[in-house]
Amino acid sequence: MTWRLARSLGRLREQINAAAPLRSKASDGTIGDAAHASRSSDHNPWVKDGATGVVTALDITHDPAAGVDIQKLADALVTSKDRRIKYIICNGRIVSGSGQKQPAWKWRAYGGSNPHSRHIHISVKASKALYDDERDWRFDTAEIAELAPSESVLRNGSHGPFVKELQENLARLGYVIRADGRFGNETDRVVRMFQRQKGLKVDGWAGPRTLDAVGRAIAELASKPKIEAARENAREQAAEQVERKTGWWQNVTGFFGAGSVGGGLLWGVDWQTLVVITGAAILVMLLIVLLRRQIVAAVRDIREGLA
Ligand SMILES: [Zn+2]
Repeated sequence: MTWRLARSLGRLREQINAAAPLRSKASDGTIGDAAHASRSSDHNPWVKDGATGVVTALDITHDPAAGVDIQKLADALVTSKDRRIKYIICNGRIVSGSGQKQPAWKWRAYGGSNPHSRHIHISVKASKALYDDERDWRFDTAEIAELAPSESVLRNGSHGPFVKELQENLARLGYVIRADGRFGNETDRVVRMFQRQKGLKVDGWAGPRTLDAVGRAIAELASKPKIEAARENAREQAAEQVERKTGWWQNVTGFFGAGSVGGGLLWGVDWQTLVVITGAAILVMLLIVLLRRQIVAAVRDIREGLA
């Protein structure tokens, strides 16, 4: 029997290939194998267009190093709310498109034997007007292909000199973070906080966009007047102080982080020292106010003595 892939999915595959030309296709799929034929699957060409069977499902291989992260692709497709989509399966979850029994665009657990961690499955609806609709799929290819082949992403579990450099830069921006070269939960939290403050996608992944924003923040910091930088830093540090004492990181960053730009250099002074210096300054001013008369009298005495 002759079969073909639904044209909408052909177009989707073209767009993904254009965005990530070096991507692996090891787990790609269109027409189902023998295992698929025995069960209900959109990989079987059961939709008929005249005498031709139409495959209305496409599998795309997970290959983040070459620019296709299936979860990011899934998220982008869900965000697009494209009415051609019947359902998407990815990383143990399934999400249905609009106009079906299941609530639209709500992820739920997928019970199938294949968790779909090596590829994403995308099905389109059985109506020809939809499955053969070749219009461009609306997603930001840069988002899917956040990793150009020459680049890498730093994320929870990463380690090495690039992670250390990222941590050092975040520390320079005023975040409390150990520069140990290991991207763990602490770094993940700080990266998310930074992303939130910069209006970036909050996913804890330090890809080109996030690393770029870190670089720009460092450059901004260098060009800022020191007083302004110190004021921002103090605010940031105060938030961190509370965070360290209470662990209410999310609440604190949400409250203090909204207006701040990421802190500043403290000329190598930590917050405890800053508190001591501020306290001493206030004390001196208080003494001047209290001893005003005595000081004035003393100055007069000295003047009279000199006269
Ligand atoms: Zn599939």
